[in-house]
Amino acid sequence: MQRTNIIDTPKFIGKTVKLAGWVHIRRDHGKLIFVDLRDRSGIIQTVIIPDHVEAHDNAKRLRNEFVIEMEGIVKERPMSAKNEKSPTGGVELEVTSIEILNEAKTTPFEITKDTKEVDEKLRLKYRYLDLRSERMKNNILTRYKVVKFFRDFLGEQGFIEVETPILGKTTAEGSRDYVVPSRIYKGKFYALPQSPQQYKQLLMVAGIEKYFQIARCFRDEDTRGDRQPEFTQLDMEMSFVEQEDVMNVVEEMLIKLVQTQFPEKRIQEIPFPRLSYKESMEKYGNDKPDIREDKNDPNLLAFCWVVDFPFFEKDEESSTGWTFTHNPFSRPKPEFMEQLMNKENIADILTTQYDIVLNGYEAGGGSIRNHEPKALRKVLEIMGISEENVQRDYGHMLESFKYGAPPHGGIAPGIDRLVMILQNEPNIREVIAFAKTGEAEDPMMEAPSVLDEKQLVEAGIKIVTKKKKIV
Ligand code: ASP
Repeated sequence: MQRTNIIDTPKFIGKTVKLAGWVHIRRDHGKLIFVDLRDRSGIIQTVIIPDHVEAHDNAKRLRNEFVIEMEGIVKERPMSAKNEKSPTGGVELEVTSIEILNEAKTTPFEITKDTKEVDEKLRLKYRYLDLRSERMKNNILTRYKVVKFFRDFLGEQGFIEVETPILGKTTAEGSRDYVVPSRIYKGKFYALPQSPQQYKQLLMVAGIEKYFQIARCFRDEDTRGDRQPEFTQLDMEMSFVEQEDVMNVVEEMLIKLVQTQFPEKRIQEIPFPRLSYKESMEKYGNDKPDIREDKNDPNLLAFCWVVDFPFFEKDEESSTGWTFTHNPFSRPKPEFMEQLMNKENIADILTTQYDIVLNGYEAGGGSIRNHEPKALRKVLEIMGISEENVQRDYGHMLESFKYGAPPHGGIAPGIDRLVMILQNEPNIREVIAFAKTGEAEDPMMEAPSVLDEKQLVEAGIKIVTKKKKIV
């Protein structure tokens, strides 16, 4: 017999079905044994009566989280016994047979309850159990719903999904890189991408025109509540566009996402209000303003755009005293192009950068890029990057732009943060299946871990431990 998903059982009143899942709760009343059975789709109350001798004997052995298969007849519950709160609450399964597929140890924390209060390290160590809990399961399902919506929406708009390498080259993108030693080229290293920024721009040079990717990004930063060593962006890039075009696609996509997938939510203002960086700083004291009218409403989504950021900011470490604020590949606003080329009043140059802000979080950012090699070169010059380093870090980009690079621009909304806000979760770890702790550790796999001597030799690596000072 084919297995029925628990959520579908009410459709089979009077019929025999086969269900499979985990024992959620078992209540042994001697003669009658009740088992709430759980699968991904839902929970159903089942009853085992002594008439079915073998099933009854098996039911006595059941403990929470045993994996079982059951056959039984779907019975409508009498009016008084119906449970309105549960989608299967109108029925009950009268079990005729039980097969125990696997036993289970007592779980280190209760998963029939919300695991919010459980020590987070323990939850991460046993993440596969944590994910069985209702809230965590819903977070993972919602995340998939969001990603699927993006894929469908962008596909319809003519975007294509392209994978870009994880093993790349170290680039000066603003954060610290995670590096991977090369076994073949000893002493050389790959770097994990901080974002697919350069690859996606190269895809525009390649004529792809509309690209997206559910892209994993790696940044070796000091971790904070809403940061992880690796996180996911909806990375996008488009050719022959201006700032408005990119902003419009993203705005339409986010509005449609909320309206079709989260009808219980309300977007505060459509079209999304726009603030300049200056206005935002003056009015809210930061560049990711929380403009919600009512901060207590869990279903209120207050999107806004922040635009007109300064291109450069002071940096003591730079030989010229300047670095970029967001992205070295950004193009200045058209009216500042001449100023950039002449390197005049650098502090006043505004970039085409646009950030999408949601309920006080930066939910993504992007810009129109400098597709002309001379303009990109000028940015690097202002930042004081030596010719040698320009060649080393940006040579391939400058070279590619000489072969007919189209004007292009893009954006990268953060998927973890967006799902976190949609699910009213306090941090992104709650919406990442296998998250790391705030200290960048994975307590389940015990990563990072040491390499054995053979692996170190193969990778050409010698470990140097800092000597502790003896006081
Ligand atoms: N690559 C940028 C980032 O990761 C986003 C973009 O400009 O598309 O922040």
